[in-house]
Amino acid sequence: MLPLLLLLALALALATKVPGAPQVLTNKHADARQNSEDKKHLRRALELAAQALGRTSPNPCVGCVLVDGATGEVVGEGWHVKAGEPHAEAMALSRAGVRARGCTAYVSLEPCNHFGRTPPCSHALLKHGIARVVVGMVDPDARVSGSGIAYLLNAGVPVTLGVSDSCYQACKNLNRPFLHRVTTDRSYLCLALPAGGTASGSRLGPLLPKLLAQAPEVDTLLLTSRQLLDLSATALHEALLPHTSLLVWHARAGAGAEAEEEEEVSKRCFAALQDLKVIEGSARKVRYLPSTTSPTLTLALKATAKQGCNGCLLVHEPTSDNDKGEGEGEGESEGVGADAKDAIKSGLVQKVLVQGEHDGEWSAVSLK
Ligand SMILES: [Zn+2]
Repeated sequence: MLPLLLLLALALALATKVPGAPQVLTNKHADARQNSEDKKHLRRALELAAQALGRTSPNPCVGCVLVDGATGEVVGEGWHVKAGEPHAEAMALSRAGVRARGCTAYVSLEPCNHFGRTPPCSHALLKHGIARVVVGMVDPDARVSGSGIAYLLNAGVPVTLGVSDSCYQACKNLNRPFLHRVTTDRSYLCLALPAGGTASGSRLGPLLPKLLAQAPEVDTLLLTSRQLLDLSATALHEALLPHTSLLVWHARAGAGAEAEEEEEVSKRCFAALQDLKVIEGSARKVRYLPSTTSPTLTLALKATAKQGCNGCLLVHEPTSDNDKGEGEGEGESEGVGADAKDAIKSGLVQKVLVQGEHDGEWSAVSLK
């Protein structure tokens, strides 16, 4: 449900921020025909945005449609392809050229208002003479958080926010990992629990593409160094989609010299794979979480957001001394290792995929 009170509160906050701004935020256009047009174009902006689902970390997925207010003609479309590339609005404006002047811009997420790797989209929309902006939802990122809308309102550009409950919900659903990271400072984590509790080596390789397909919203595969060592370079190459990042975490399995040895081996393995350009050619980014800074699963999961990962997929691999899950009356977490149970209980996991014992098929279980 789109919280109307929240919208009104935001409108008031923005109005006080920009005294004299003539425009008022609404959650739908007063004109029924215009409201139906707004929904249609915002849905299209969402479709465009979804093309880059799971590829934009640390940025969100955003789509933009520019429509000529007089003729209803779409004159430019754009979406954010990946971090470092132009934002959705910039792509649509460049495609529309001079035809952008006087258009309504439909953007699935509030235009940014800060100078990053690209100039602010709020400024670009104004510069190109956009006459009205329809925004799917406010960007809760502290660097935006209403300031993109405020900038446009202050410049006299009317802004419609939200359009409908279902559009708002669709905008939120599309960016679940991004929204989770910017509001909680934690990556959205999908935990896969293979039947039998463990899946390493030959079993893990074929599972990865299936799992990544079940969690299209995540963009990073989080492997333990043990899992990396068990995987053949070919399996890894085949598993990783061109846009999937790889984050390797060294899970401390032993103690003292044994642990150091394992870390050294996994580092060498990792370096060798990079040298071969096997991973580099197939993954967008490869990073490493050493056990020194992330000695436990909980700390490793907390560190992923600082690595700029909106969403991660982890295939659970119980560590030797804590895999005796109690499982008494725990429902779906029965048989789960203690470390994974802790991660679920402490709210670090947002999605759990379980594999059926008999059919081997994966399904998502709900977390309350
Ligand atoms: Zn932008």
